[in-house]
Amino acid sequence: MFAFLKKIFITNVSSESVKETQLYSDNEWEFLVLNEFYSAKSYEKVLKSLPSEIRFVADQLIGNKELVKPPIEVQIDISFRVPDLKKILKNNEIPISGNKDILIQRLVSNNAALQCLGSLDIYQCSDNAKHSIDRWKNERALIEENYFEKVLSLVKVRKIEEAVDLTAEFKKRYPKISDLKASVSPLGINISKEKQCNLITLILSSNPKILSGYSEIDLEQLRVSTVIWQLGWTGQWIDKAMEGFSSICRFSSERSRMLLFIHARHTETISVFSNIKGGMRFRLSSKNGCENCAALDGKCVDLSEMPEIPNPDCCSDGCAILPTPLIYDGET
Ligand SMILES: [Zn+2]
Repeated sequence: MFAFLKKIFITNVSSESVKETQLYSDNEWEFLVLNEFYSAKSYEKVLKSLPSEIRFVADQLIGNKELVKPPIEVQIDISFRVPDLKKILKNNEIPISGNKDILIQRLVSNNAALQCLGSLDIYQCSDNAKHSIDRWKNERALIEENYFEKVLSLVKVRKIEEAVDLTAEFKKRYPKISDLKASVSPLGINISKEKQCNLITLILSSNPKILSGYSEIDLEQLRVSTVIWQLGWTGQWIDKAMEGFSSICRFSSERSRMLLFIHARHTETISVFSNIKGGMRFRLSSKNGCENCAALDGKCVDLSEMPEIPNPDCCSDGCAILPTPLIYDGET
C-alpha cells in the first residue's frame, strides 16, 4: 500500500545528483500525516491540505484509533460560530442568551437541535498518538541537528559538493508533507546540483562593497549563514549559523544575507553573459530606488561597464537594481 507513496516521492526527486538513500518506512509516513493533525483543530481542514494520494493514510489512522473524535462539545465548538449556534437554537425554540459554552450545553441537551448539526467531521490526535508524535519529533530533531552540524562544518571548509549532497540526503530521508505537495526536490525548486554548487561558491567568495562595514570575520559568518539559507535550512538553523554574531552594521543580518545573495547572483549573471561573443548591453532599472540608485535608472551599459550590484553608493537598504539584456537592434 505504501509502495506507491515512495514512488510518488522518488519521481518528484531530481535524480541527476542524489544518491539513492533509504526512504521513510511505512510507519514514518503515518507519523508525517499524524503530525499534520497534531496541532490542528479540524480534520476536514487538514484533510483538504493533504495531497490526495495520501489521504487514505488519514482514514487508516482513524481506523487505528490514532485519530479520534473529541467530545461532542468540542466538535461543536470547533465547527460553529456563536451566530450559527444562535440560529440553530432559535429554530428549535431554545433560549439564545449566554456565552458560547452555555449555548453549546443547551444544544447538547436537546436531541432535536443536535440532529440539526448533521455529522461533524472533527477528528483529533488521540493522547497516545500525541505521545508517539512527541517522541518521534524529538528523535527527528536530534537527527536534523546532527545533519546540520555536519553540513555547517562542510560549508565552512568549502566542501561545497559534500554539503549539497548531505543536505539533499537529509531532505530525501526526512521529507516534509509540504515538500511532497509542492513537488520540491531535495535540492530545492528548479535548481540543478551544478547550479547550486556554483551559486554557493559565488556566495562564499562574495565581498560586496555595500557590506564593507563588516569585518572579514563577520562577513564570513554572514556568507556561511547565507549558504545555509540557500541550501534550504529553516530559520532556527540560520540562527544557529549566526550564533555569536554581534556586529552592528547599517543593515540587519537578514538584509545583509539578502545583499550577499544578490551580489552573488549578479556575479553569476555577468559570468553567464561574458561568454556571449560581441558583448552584451543592458538597461538598468531601479524602481523606487534611493537618490543614488535612481540615478542609474534607465541607464544603458555594456557588460564591461556594469556597475556593482547592490549599488555600493546606495543610501537606502540596498535598492533593487535590475539589468535587462538588450537585444542589439540599434537601441542605445
Ligand atoms: Zn539605493
